[in-house]
Amino acid sequence: MGKVEITFLGGAREVGRAAYWVRDEKASILLDYGVNFDEEDNPVFPEYVPPKDVGAIVLSHAHLDHSGALPLLYTAIKRPVYMTKVTKELIEILIQDFLKLSGYYVPYGHTEMKEMLDSVRLMDYRRPVEMPEAGGTVLTFYDAGHIPGSAMVKLELPSGIKLLYTGDVRKSETQLLRGADLEGLEADILLIEGTYGNLDHPDRKDVEALFVSDVREVVEEGGTILVPAFSVGRGQEILSVIEDHGLDVPVALDGMVKGVTELVLQGENKRFLKNPDLLEKAYEKAYVVKGWRDRRKVWRRPGVIIASAGMLRGGPSLYYARKIQEINKDAIFLVSFQAPGTPGRRLVQEGKIDEGGPTVQARVEWFDFSSHGGVSELLDIIKSVKGLQKVIVVHSEEKTAESFAQRIREETGLDVIVPERGSTLKIEL
Ligand SMILES: [Zn+2]
Ligand SMILES: [Zn+2]
Repeated sequence: MGKVEITFLGGAREVGRAAYWVRDEKASILLDYGVNFDEEDNPVFPEYVPPKDVGAIVLSHAHLDHSGALPLLYTAIKRPVYMTKVTKELIEILIQDFLKLSGYYVPYGHTEMKEMLDSVRLMDYRRPVEMPEAGGTVLTFYDAGHIPGSAMVKLELPSGIKLLYTGDVRKSETQLLRGADLEGLEADILLIEGTYGNLDHPDRKDVEALFVSDVREVVEEGGTILVPAFSVGRGQEILSVIEDHGLDVPVALDGMVKGVTELVLQGENKRFLKNPDLLEKAYEKAYVVKGWRDRRKVWRRPGVIIASAGMLRGGPSLYYARKIQEINKDAIFLVSFQAPGTPGRRLVQEGKIDEGGPTVQARVEWFDFSSHGGVSELLDIIKSVKGLQKVIVVHSEEKTAESFAQRIREETGLDVIVPERGSTLKIEL
């Protein structure tokens, strides 16, 4: 068939900072270009790629660990960047916010951001598009079930090689989203995320039931529950869960999660959701916190406050957490992954929000509402792809990636690679 080279600029033996540069004789395509954050909360960028050497860029979904470095490529020349409509609207919000918070450490500004947004080509699921800038490579998106607008990306390269990149993926449905669309997938090479390549999540229905009964318990005792939630996806999922279970408690929304909820409910964007009516109803009932006057009052009333940011790294959620931390009847229910070094992780592990701060008296729980598939789902995804010859594990901690790779070999007999960051893989098929 032909040859393909893939350089792992980031997102290899680590979660996030996804950046995969795919080349053959005629095509040069960059899949995602994201940032991570270190323990001091400073952004960490993927390795450099000369923008002039890239023909086209493809973005799988809006999360900053996939999108946050994209404007870096727009300092000198313009290249088309392919993504769904919701992804485009979401990155506008997310990258603006990123610039506001970390601007000093970010080597691009609003000009590059605008150039990038002007270069967007919109994609729909299952509508193949030919990319003239990439030697006629045919690009197809499939719903990845991870966040609104998230896509699995298929490239049919000029050499004839078919490459499928899962982006971040979840196979089973949630309240907010349909699961990944795996119908009739076909590829020679699969780049698969392995965030949870070593474990399975508990059944979602059980997690929901536990969450709902715990919320009820706290509110019945007159307590307030803070739910720190990622602005995109998780905040809307929790709203939908509350509505679906008919939980009759006051719900307040604060932070970026407000604007994002409005955005995903706007016009055409609704079709990216499984059940927009459910979220719409929940949003209509919710009390939207408008400013500091509201904020100072809302945590004194019994009910649920859904607020950004999800790991208590700032935003209104950190304000509320500090207010209610010493109140026995109140609670903090974490519903997102808590990265090492974040106040959220400290709360789970040491029972404190601030280093040297008071021990939290409020009830603390963590619920597994992951938007990534667990290992069994990931294996199902691999098995559903026809014609596979090679599997490459990305977006996964080193140990997790190694054990996931072993599991794939055992269950499928396929050739599996766990690439090093900065390395280039040459594959001939
Ligand atoms: Zn990711
Ligand atoms: Zn993601």
